[in-house]
Amino acid sequence: MSSKTLVMSEELRAYLLSVSAREPDILRRLREETANLPQSGMQISVEQGQFMSLLVSLLGAKTTLEVGVFTGYSSLVTALAMPPDGRIIACDVSEEWTGIARRYWQEAGVADKIDLRLGPAAETLQALAAEGYQNSFDFAFIDADKGNYDRYYESALTLLRPGGLIAIDNTLWSGRVADPTVQDADTLALRALNEKLHGDERVTLSLLPIGDGLTLAMKRA
Ligand code: CA
Repeated sequence: MSSKTLVMSEELRAYLLSVSAREPDILRRLREETANLPQSGMQISVEQGQFMSLLVSLLGAKTTLEVGVFTGYSSLVTALAMPPDGRIIACDVSEEWTGIARRYWQEAGVADKIDLRLGPAAETLQALAAEGYQNSFDFAFIDADKGNYDRYYESALTLLRPGGLIAIDNTLWSGRVADPTVQDADTLALRALNEKLHGDERVTLSLLPIGDGLTLAMKRA
């Protein structure tokens, strides 16, 4: 028994996956293809993907935002968890990485659910607000350049409906946020956002030690 969170060993994680992972074959193949890229560490884990799938189902999400697509694992997870009329607006700047994503979206039959907007996400989110999309999205996943996280969070908060959920990835940043000797720009940005969220009365908050840290912030009415 413990009132703390376990430190996850490789053996225990293998066990966790052995009794709980339900990764569809297409997600497994996407994960394996992505593992060959030098940036493969940017991909979310199997268990995090499955958790996000559960969240999307719980929310009954029909419209979602994704900031940072990479090769599309999380957007595919989200699309598969949504009903046929579900829609994702997905932001990324990389033609190359999202080219991989598009291939898997096609194969999974969910390409028509995903509206990919190539370009700086800050601009895409601002444009959505200008187009009248405030208070409309059910779910947002933020997993992109850390220096802009606060901007993405504020935009997502505007675009979400009350009761909608923002999930922010990498908020424990391999532990660097808790190491005061680490002072690089990305770590400082994440530390500042974590501290801001702690006192942010606009949201109901939880920071989960899954993957590299996943912060959940539900927009209050
Ligand atoms: Ca990430």
